[in-house]
Amino acid sequence: AARWARVTAIMKDFEEKCGTSIENLKQVADAMNLEMHNGLASDSGDATKLKMLISYVDNLPTGNEKGLFYALDLGGTNFRVLRVQLGGKGGGIVNQEFAEVSIPSDLMVGTSEALFDFIAAELAKFVDQEGEDFQLPPGRQRELGFTFSFPVMQSSIASGNLIRWTKGFSIDNTVGQDIVAELTRAMERRGVDMRVSALVNDTVGTLARGRYSNRDVVAAVILGTGTNAAYVEHAHAIPKLDGLLPKSGEMVINMEWGGFRSLHHPLTEYDHALDAESLNPGEQIFEKMISGMYLGEIVRRVLCRMAEEASIFGDTIPPKLEVPFILRTPDMSAMHHDTSSDLKVVDNKLKNILEIPDTSLEIREVVVELCNIVATRGARLAAAGIMGILMKLQRDTINDGEKQMTVVALDGGLYEHYTEFRKCLQNTLKELLGEEVSQSIVFEHSKDGSGIGAALLAASHSRYL
Ligand code: ADP
Ligand code: MG
Repeated sequence: AARWARVTAIMKDFEEKCGTSIENLKQVADAMNLEMHNGLASDSGDATKLKMLISYVDNLPTGNEKGLFYALDLGGTNFRVLRVQLGGKGGGIVNQEFAEVSIPSDLMVGTSEALFDFIAAELAKFVDQEGEDFQLPPGRQRELGFTFSFPVMQSSIASGNLIRWTKGFSIDNTVGQDIVAELTRAMERRGVDMRVSALVNDTVGTLARGRYSNRDVVAAVILGTGTNAAYVEHAHAIPKLDGLLPKSGEMVINMEWGGFRSLHHPLTEYDHALDAESLNPGEQIFEKMISGMYLGEIVRRVLCRMAEEASIFGDTIPPKLEVPFILRTPDMSAMHHDTSSDLKVVDNKLKNILEIPDTSLEIREVVVELCNIVATRGARLAAAGIMGILMKLQRDTINDGEKQMTVVALDGGLYEHYTEFRKCLQNTLKELLGEEVSQSIVFEHSKDGSGIGAALLAASHSRYL
């Protein structure tokens, strides 16, 4: 009984510290909005501030893009190579093919050359296997949109230096380097004849993909291994753009919101420990509370505490439970969605992943509740972030009965597959906006948008136009 009281106490304490009242979320949204203004005013070296990076995308796809274009999507656990045949005005996407490869984990923490050689080799394979369905007009070089989902200080649409790695990557000799130059050199070493015509963040690609089929798309959010957002800003509202005013009057901004840190959502001791032991301590705090790379790991850490202090899994701590990142977010989501009366899925996951046999139903219920607390906090904070963007765009209120629709394109494995997370995100935004305004805000799933969007941007920045 004393043990059970300890379990309840740990749970209650954790739940309280993960609390996200509406008042709290409104403060987070206000802080996001404020940080957006600050980040647009000037670049600061502070890793806890919003970078608000200029993407050099000042025209989004119109639907008139035409021809065969390639994309390479590097961002988290997998990387993809795509070819997309665009039909021109009214034609849409005529044909598309992709190959997906998981990135060997040693390459994520090795050298720049090894990583880019691996990518170039996959690209070479992909090109070699091209069938008759995809034809490049004679004399034309292949053109590639490169989706690179890490903070990059761009100097043009097709160049930019890596600011820092995030998520599971940490390769010292890439930081500060021009990512396009790195890829181009690797392609030359490998004999791949391709030109990078656009370097884009995955959020920017997703925004481009969304806009291609829906004119009302103004922002994009990624909820995958990491999390980030991009949106369309008025050029005159970007002081740091000084002088470089684009003709369109608009500029897509890559917020790098994963690096956001608001004083309005204090971290729990589990978050502090996760951060301290991560590859990038002190950085990407918003991302560490929201995204797929971390949610399961937070649950694992709380379970560890319960095993230590309340012996929920017996007298010793199961060794597997002490392995960082062993409990992945897809497994957490499977447990969270377990609807069987005896929580069979939870039982199986505990057995197969953590090698914990024979748990009681009460303990399995504790596990589900922990998943719920962690996913709820993440989803509600993400909703507050979106609210911050809507405030910045002044789309968080109804302007004189005007019926302007606002569409947010979303993508990423967490958003796509974690139903409870997605539902909570949608409900929370509704709660924040109120019934009336929320009718004008639409979420659209832009499936695989980041890669296709990069191909679209390669098309609109083609040298053959
Ligand atoms: P990336 O972010 O690496 O570019 P994705 O958008 O495909 O790639 O997202 C993959 C991430 O999504 C995984 O790392 C995982 O955290 C999360 N994810 C994948 N499947 C699920 C699932 N069934 N439930 C919850 N999260 C998932
Ligand atoms: Mg991705």
